[in-house]
Amino acid sequence: MKIEVEPLIVKFKHPFGISRWTRTVSRGIIVRVSQDGITGLGEASPNQRYGETLESSTAFAEGVPLPDVMRPEILEETILQVWSKGEGEYSAKAAIDMALFDWVGKVSGKPLYRMWGKDKPHGVTTSFTLGIDTPDVMRQKAEETGPYRVLKLKVGTDSDHVNFEAVRSVTDKVIRVDANEGWKDKHQALDRIHWLNEQNVELVEQPMPAGSWDDLAWLKQHSPLPLFADEDCGRLAGMEKLSDAYHGVNIKLDKSGGLLEAKKMLEKARELDMQVMIGCMTGTSVSMSAGTHLALWADYADLDGHLLIADDPFEGVELRDGQLWVREEPGLGVSERNH
Ligand code: MG
Repeated sequence: MKIEVEPLIVKFKHPFGISRWTRTVSRGIIVRVSQDGITGLGEASPNQRYGETLESSTAFAEGVPLPDVMRPEILEETILQVWSKGEGEYSAKAAIDMALFDWVGKVSGKPLYRMWGKDKPHGVTTSFTLGIDTPDVMRQKAEETGPYRVLKLKVGTDSDHVNFEAVRSVTDKVIRVDANEGWKDKHQALDRIHWLNEQNVELVEQPMPAGSWDDLAWLKQHSPLPLFADEDCGRLAGMEKLSDAYHGVNIKLDKSGGLLEAKKMLEKARELDMQVMIGCMTGTSVSMSAGTHLALWADYADLDGHLLIADDPFEGVELRDGQLWVREEPGLGVSERNH
């Protein structure tokens, strides 16, 4: 089996800001695995928060050990072999895992959801993210969210109140908030959560720095809103301790290392009686289609990466009335626009 790795730089429709940074482009890689005239597609969005760059992802993905002859029966062992190449680089691992699932689905003639035992897909409601900006811009962005049923507002700065009020002044939609570790102590976090609880907010993502276990456990006991782990939730190992501190987990392919691990994490979350959101880093229809297949088993989805970028070179998952629908086609159900 052959692998090709290509850098992918796409522009955001609007500059995109969270508590740690603001960006105008998303830098990722596209992976293509091919054999027997069939190509599987995967995508990585390397994240500096986890020590990844475009260069390090590319270096990992190029020359990763793949079997001379790939077969659907050896999908899992092939992914484990990819992982054995080295530590870290989970977004690159995810891109290869996704491409292998796509290839196996195409060879088997089955959409990914059917490989996992579901006959038909359903619509998945996704939140649409409003990055941190000035209150005027945030109000304007909120006015442009017509088709979306749920908004996700990035918070975690001194401007939380004015930004939230700017958005609330033009919409009564359900809002989820994501502090991206931005609230620095548990009392500040609880004050803001109490205030948000009066404002039709559904849940709070990563209120405090990852690893603040004692403070987060205290916050979970006192919070009127469900708390979801994102930066604190990477892979299957480490999930046990999350249930003391959080009500739910945000599972992302770029953090988990791909679909194989993410599906196991989803099952583990159920064992731990935790709620599940399938989220995303920035990305195109490749990664969002893969995530939407998995989200068919989740409680919440935040899969708007392809909706935030200007020129998606791929098409796959479709937005209909604020819901994402995977294509009923083999593999991830994704194609290249210019092919
Ligand atoms: Mg988050």
